[in-house]
Amino acid sequence: MVNSHAAVAELGAIEAGGTKFACAVGTPAGHLIHETTIPTTTPEETLKQVIEFLRSHSRNLAAVGIGSFGPLQLNPGSAKYGYITSTPKPGWSNFDLAGTIRNAFHVPVILDTDVNAAALAESRWGAAQGLRTFLYGTVGTGIGGGAIVEGAILHGRTHPEMGHIRVPHDRSRDPFPGTCPYHENCLEGLASGTALEARWKVSPATLPRNHPAWVLEAEYLALACVNWMCTLSPQRVILGGGVMQQKQLFPLICERVARLMNTYMDTSESADNLGSFIVPSPLAGNAGLLGALALANCHTASGNSS
Ligand code: ADP
Ligand code: ZN
Repeated sequence: MVNSHAAVAELGAIEAGGTKFACAVGTPAGHLIHETTIPTTTPEETLKQVIEFLRSHSRNLAAVGIGSFGPLQLNPGSAKYGYITSTPKPGWSNFDLAGTIRNAFHVPVILDTDVNAAALAESRWGAAQGLRTFLYGTVGTGIGGGAIVEGAILHGRTHPEMGHIRVPHDRSRDPFPGTCPYHENCLEGLASGTALEARWKVSPATLPRNHPAWVLEAEYLALACVNWMCTLSPQRVILGGGVMQQKQLFPLICERVARLMNTYMDTSESADNLGSFIVPSPLAGNAGLLGALALANCHTASGNSS
């Protein structure tokens, strides 16, 4: 029997980003009780503040979920399980993120990518409720994608890096070389907020809605959607992140996806129908943090810490 007097489990949620860590104490139902953001400086300084925040706002955390920038080591067989691995962000590469939190609280810590976490939040509370296979993509400082496939978060060898797929790059039309230090012609290098700012030399938020930047941006994002769709067969593609606040991108992307698909997979793939298939995140910029909460709840709900 459930003890009706038992306190509701409190969960810790951390969205670890390159510029800030969003932290919260919340409930399994997705209610964020206390929230804060902490600037990302050194791992030691940042994590000290994260731990202090969680300690001062909860006395009985049942688990902590972390959705983090990466790349991450998520293979449970690896000695470096739970580490941030090869990030170019100074000080953070080879850092034991999950272990640092686990040592502070001695509770289960569930780490995943920020975008896998966000995908989980979409399945619980957002645009993917009731779906078993779908994709969440973020277009912000970088580009990333997380996927749930037949009800389970997709990890595979490590985790997907959907932002680093190569896309056709017509240099006669777009001579911009890209911003990714690792790859030529990768999606993140050509279409992230960072790339937009470097190409057009202004903050993307200030570019007018009818600026040619958005047509080009929609073309790159449509190429990404088509590649993701052909590979994973998602039932929906949810797009979030700062750049996707430019809502005029959605019809442009759908139009272009319809043209690129050319009715091959499904004759109903008209731009209009795609409007309910490629959709904005309804979680108001909170998908990552809610996703971290959902990760923490994975443990308490099912005992599954994968
Ligand atoms: P992060 O990716 O760091 O988690 P965001 O998802 O907020 O953070 O994305 C930040 C990026 O989005 C920056 O490159 C910023 O210039 C861009 N951005 C933020 N707001 C807008 C907007 N309204 N329109 C277009 N780009 C935006
Ligand atoms: Zn790249």
